[in-house]
Amino acid sequence: MPQTTPTHPSPDTVLFENLRKVFGFREFRPNQERIVRAILGGQDVFAVMPTGGGKSLCYQLPAVVLEGTCMVISPLIALMKDQVDGARANGIRAAFLNSSQSPEEGAAVMRDLLSNSLDLLYVAPERFTRDHFRDMLSRVSLSMAVIDEAHCISEWGHDFRPDYLSLSDLVTFFPDLPVCAFTATATHRVQEDILGKLALRNPLVVRASFDRPNLHYDVRFKEGADAQIVGLLKEHCGKAGIIYRTSRKSVNDTAAMLKAKGFRALPYHAGLSDDERKQNQEAFIRDEADVIVATIAFGMGIDKSNIRFVIHADLPRSIENYYQETGRAGRDGESAHCTLLFAQGDIPKVRFFIDSMLDETERGRALAALSKVISFASTSVCRRRTLLEYFGETYPGDNCNSCDICLGTREVVDCTREAQMLLSAIVRTEERFGATHLVDIVTGSANQKIREFGHDRLKTYGVGKEHDKKYWRRLVDELLAQQVINKSEGLYPTLYLLPKAVRILKNEEQLEIVRVVDKKKAKFSRAAPSTAQPQGDKELFDLLRSLRKQIADEQGIPPYVVFSDRSLHEMAATLPKTGEELLTVSGVGEVKLDRYGRQFLQVIQRHISDHP
Ligand code: ADP
Ligand code: ZN
Repeated sequence: MPQTTPTHPSPDTVLFENLRKVFGFREFRPNQERIVRAILGGQDVFAVMPTGGGKSLCYQLPAVVLEGTCMVISPLIALMKDQVDGARANGIRAAFLNSSQSPEEGAAVMRDLLSNSLDLLYVAPERFTRDHFRDMLSRVSLSMAVIDEAHCISEWGHDFRPDYLSLSDLVTFFPDLPVCAFTATATHRVQEDILGKLALRNPLVVRASFDRPNLHYDVRFKEGADAQIVGLLKEHCGKAGIIYRTSRKSVNDTAAMLKAKGFRALPYHAGLSDDERKQNQEAFIRDEADVIVATIAFGMGIDKSNIRFVIHADLPRSIENYYQETGRAGRDGESAHCTLLFAQGDIPKVRFFIDSMLDETERGRALAALSKVISFASTSVCRRRTLLEYFGETYPGDNCNSCDICLGTREVVDCTREAQMLLSAIVRTEERFGATHLVDIVTGSANQKIREFGHDRLKTYGVGKEHDKKYWRRLVDELLAQQVINKSEGLYPTLYLLPKAVRILKNEEQLEIVRVVDKKKAKFSRAAPSTAQPQGDKELFDLLRSLRKQIADEQGIPPYVVFSDRSLHEMAATLPKTGEELLTVSGVGEVKLDRYGRQFLQVIQRHISDHP
């Protein structure tokens, strides 16, 4: 285990050597170095960093360098196991104590702790309150304390955990050691709350940018969601992804549809048995299922770093939810895609759900959140800019080069003339009909209802033949979204005009629509150039991936703990021939080289000789 030698080498050497040797990384990600240095200097730290920002390294590296055990308080059992697996794969002496263990397993960990042979110990917050545990802590040498998912301490956070309140006296319990709190979600209000509750002593406060440069955002007009989902999965063939849906039923239906088409997809929602949920989650984590179709119940405690896409097939509840859910993609820093399928027609369903809320404040909050999501999806402002603005951040560039808007796949089209046709049909039928019938009128359909009402004699009958029905349905959606018209409540909703419609009819105002210009251009192939990484030979990547899976199964750990997608891509691109060359690949440290190096080098060598 790499440790500092007693003859104190320069702190810089220690830092970078451990970064390279233990974690296999050549450089720090933004803010990591600053945080690590503060901790090594004995300072408290409070850091808000987005998912995938690399929070673990911020305390795992000091935990390796400092004498004694670093205690990490973490709310989720599943997360603890993942973190421990990951740390151990790098040769760090890590363990956890929680209720999932047998008494024997727990006792073994305590023995290791008492004999000072742990660098990292993960525990649940309630354990920290127990006197017995505190007694034991006072008998061991500790290096620092860490609170992971620190937003759980705030009642304003989205998953407040009463257990976390017991952590308020952490600082008094560790008077001489650095105490650090990390979270990926903190509005300024939550941040103040956490700082107040923990009473950190002159802490280094870090607020990283919430930008996730390797995520590509795309909002598409939803029409025939099944076909769109299948199309997207084909673009991401064999890669890992999550499809979010609102209801359990739609989760089941979509998962069944995908399975029938031969995709390795599994459902996940609160209506499944605990066992089934666990099995499906495990299959996904272990790369045995490519796709999880899920309600928002899925995702907490998922550390899988190689999720390559997230599809929202229904409207997310809030921008914060959307950010969290899409944020699960691309933790490893490789590019990943987030697609939202958006239809105005989905809004009434969400409205119905919100209207049924009993608590008035909550209802108001949900409505405000919904309207922000709608404006995110329906405006032509850079998606990244809008997301960042939500967190009070201004995106510095003009063009993010990695969202549907900025990639210029859309253009503004003047549809005033078409809008007038439709509005005039509404006026001439005295605002008594719904969208389907109105579209039939402008497209000149010759069905029975049209004849019965004599609507084939209207002046607007058939004026819009040049476009198909789909075009007109979309225009109705657009008019609803831009509040030109509205829809009545009830079983047979009818469309009626709002003041803006009158202005459009009088040519006092225009109707502009943002359109996808060329669907092919909007395809995924264009990731942000700034994050493009060498991908290497696809065939070799697949071979390395199977080896990774085989090793992971043998060791009972998730494949991404063996090596990240990025490491495999780099291997496939740089074709290392020796252990020394393999060490230059990101994510290959000395312990991993020792454990897996030979096997990976063999696969690479064989591939080269097969393809001279
Ligand atoms: P967070 O907890 O902030 O979501 P993690 O600690 O899980 O993020 O890190 C996300 C991924 O980034 C992991 O796969 C990790 O190995 C990788 N990572 C962390 N720091 C670095 C670095 N300095 N260079 C390259 N990859 C890194
Ligand atoms: Zn953009």
